Amino acid sequence: CGIFAYLNYNVKRDRRFILDILFNGLRRLEYRGYDSSGISIDYSSSDPNSQLSFSAPPLVFRQEGNIDSLVKSVYKDVALMKLNLEEPFCIHGGIAHTRWATHGEPSPKNSHPQTSGAKNEFLVVHNGVITNYEVLKETLMRHGFNFESDTDTEVIPKLAKYVFDKATEGDQSVTFSQVVLEVMRHLEGAYALIFKSHHYPNELIACKRGSPLLLGVKELSEDMRSGALFLDLNFISGNGHPKELFLSSDASAIVEHTKKVLVIEDGEVVHLKGGGVSILKFENDKGKCGNALSRPSS
Ligand code: GLU
Repeated sequence: CGIFAYLNYNVKRDRRFILDILFNGLRRLEYRGYDSSGISIDYSSSDPNSQLSFSAPPLVFRQEGNIDSLVKSVYKDVALMKLNLEEPFCIHGGIAHTRWATHGEPSPKNSHPQTSGAKNEFLVVHNGVITNYEVLKETLMRHGFNFESDTDTEVIPKLAKYVFDKATEGDQSVTFSQVVLEVMRHLEGAYALIFKSHHYPNELIACKRGSPLLLGVKELSEDMRSGALFLDLNFISGNGHPKELFLSSDASAIVEHTKKVLVIEDGEVVHLKGGGVSILKFENDKGKCGNALSRPSS
């Protein structure tokens, strides 16, 4: 029913910070109604002494009921995992969802993010309904995928993994946006989607058709820049300035952070990476994709 995502770049903050940002975003979406919720987070550090590998799989937390019960279960799990909430990182990414069930009853396994499998290679939060999910599910099952939820949404991360595995056979490289554009080619119905992937750490992709989606960009002042080594990721609009990027189905979750908001249009694919934003256009009628629209992020 509501989606929210956050990605920052070159801003030194601790783990508690990313959890607070996501829970706050979810509370802004609460008024729309929901039956369950969930989040996924990851973070990176350019500090060579950090224990955390750049490709550590994202953590996923899902819960039936209200946001308070999600918050409680996340802090309980985090304590069990002995995660240090005060440990600082330079890049934090997170996706969050409030669900109003259309396919599959409210339960932790049917909550979002929905996943491609045990390793959380691809994660998706979804607003809307995928009308051709049964056909896609049958096809993916024939290709060896096991489904855990009763949602229409689960076909999306599994399709992403299928597309990724096919594309990377024989060592070919494929970008995150190429994977998502290929996934979109198979989806029918209404959706706003945000993708996160273990294969593309520190990147987020969002796309939409028929459901609302907004992007918010906040450029931070120089003094918030972390002391860590600056990596020039050479990405469109990524000028190295500390940035915070927001995605949401609802403006109320973004405007408290920034007034720079862009309304995403049907068929657009938003790629967030390295403090930069690029927007691609999906051309369904020709079955083609990938025309850069070049909308600067600031
Ligand atoms: N159709 C999806 C589900 O039932 C998403 C529902 C929503 O928009 O919250 O899981």
